[in-house]
Amino acid sequence: MIASGTASQTLGTAAEQCAPFTHRVGVFGGAFDPPHLAHRELAEAALEQLGLDVLHILPTGQAWHKSRPLTSAEHRLAMCELAFGDLLKMRLDPRETLREGPSFTADTLMELADEYPGAELYLVIGTDQLLAFKTWQRWAEVLELATLAVAQRPHPGQADPQNFAAAADISGVDVPFVTLVMPLHNISATAIRARASTANGLGPDFDRLVSNDVASYISTHSLYQDPT
Ligand code: ATP
Repeated sequence: MIASGTASQTLGTAAEQCAPFTHRVGVFGGAFDPPHLAHRELAEAALEQLGLDVLHILPTGQAWHKSRPLTSAEHRLAMCELAFGDLLKMRLDPRETLREGPSFTADTLMELADEYPGAELYLVIGTDQLLAFKTWQRWAEVLELATLAVAQRPHPGQADPQNFAAAADISGVDVPFVTLVMPLHNISATAIRARASTANGLGPDFDRLVSNDVASYISTHSLYQDPT
């Protein structure tokens, strides 16, 4: 008998149903607090360049490496639906927000490997995460389960617009990965939250950072009034 009720059970059933036809599975996790236009472009690049059959978008639960309390999962899932919902082959996957305790990518990949037997898993990340990869919990397990698919991101902390085009230096990285081609975008959720908290807040050029739908959602729900 198939139980009904929780989102994860529903998702598991759907995944099992399409498993025989699915060969290339993308896994794109993040706080998505909020999801911004670089996230969107990264999702599109992964779908197209990796020839994915499905891309799971996974807002994190309480990420073990982020000390800041995240905006509620309900808001982040709603914003992800607005940001990515129209992408064919996208599946918004709430499992990490439903998990008790800290969220580990290795656990998510193990679950997906079970749900899509024999599939190739691709873990989609930016270069900031690639550079920090060996600080991840159980990173060696992650490498056994998935191929890292990495998009360039400007050097962390780079605020000077003169250096806008300088990509993070990944020459010292000694883990295997494939590259996703994508223009550099000097966009971060941190900067968006900071900006949303100011008096001018969601100003006229906010649409260079987040979609109009996400901007409206932030405004309607008065998110990010406290910069953190
Ligand atoms: P924050 O500023 O709160 O740390 P963020 O903007 O880095 O957030 P996350 O949700 O933490 O966004 O990122 C999810 C994934 O998207 C990560 O793998 C990250 O490297 C990637 N990513 C985020 N912003 C960019 C960007 N501008 N270019 C390329 N990749 C990005």
